[in-house]
Amino acid sequence: MESLEDYRIIGKRRQLVELLRSKGIGDEAVLEAIGRIPRHAFLDDSALHIHAYEDVPFPIGCGQTISQPYTVAFQTQLLGVSKGQKVLEIGTGSGYQTAVLHALGAKIYSIERHRPLFLKTKERLSGLGVKAQLYYGDGYKGLPAHAPFDRILVTCGAPFIPDALVEQLAPGGRMVVPVGESEFQRMLRVSVVKEGGTEIEDHGKFRFVPMLTDKAR
Ligand code: SAH
Repeated sequence: MESLEDYRIIGKRRQLVELLRSKGIGDEAVLEAIGRIPRHAFLDDSALHIHAYEDVPFPIGCGQTISQPYTVAFQTQLLGVSKGQKVLEIGTGSGYQTAVLHALGAKIYSIERHRPLFLKTKERLSGLGVKAQLYYGDGYKGLPAHAPFDRILVTCGAPFIPDALVEQLAPGGRMVVPVGESEFQRMLRVSVVKEGGTEIEDHGKFRFVPMLTDKAR
């Protein structure tokens, strides 16, 4: 039986979905995934659980943050994932975005450069029944051994579009990557078009933690 606390959390999650809808997220599959995933389970500090459905980022350790739900919804919508597609995520972080991709039926590979986060999130995701292949490593390199990917999602701000990641996109593939060296980034969508060329669209200004070049020890 669900406790009173659970009902409060379920209510807050419904309100978050409505908030995202009012902010322009229209992809029902994405909204449904966010309406189902217990974001509070991705926050270590249980005092924060009741705030987990506010549209804000939170610290997750190692100086990193779980992205704001609107950003997760926006990136996921832009990525346009269908069931069974192979998706590479750069920046596993708390694993929340990984869980959203899993709910959409993707076959997920995800890389994290901070070892403590990688280890904690591996345990968390398996406890929640979220299937994903998690790697500790440098996202700039991608995962050439598992390429090509139908979709690549970068969840940290990259100073440029990493070439290795473009090369790991399948024909017709797509990558969503926030690019910019200052405090803010532009949300870019890179699509592989006919004859292997790429097309780049700009989807506005966002703010991310930086994609780091030197690998954590
Ligand atoms: N998707 C995450 C977002 C976490 S913030 C979530 O839903 O919680 C971005 C993450 O990218 C951080 O955990 C950070 O450590 C990681 N990151 C930064 N640079 C990286 C790199 N070069 N390779 C892989 N991960 C990186």
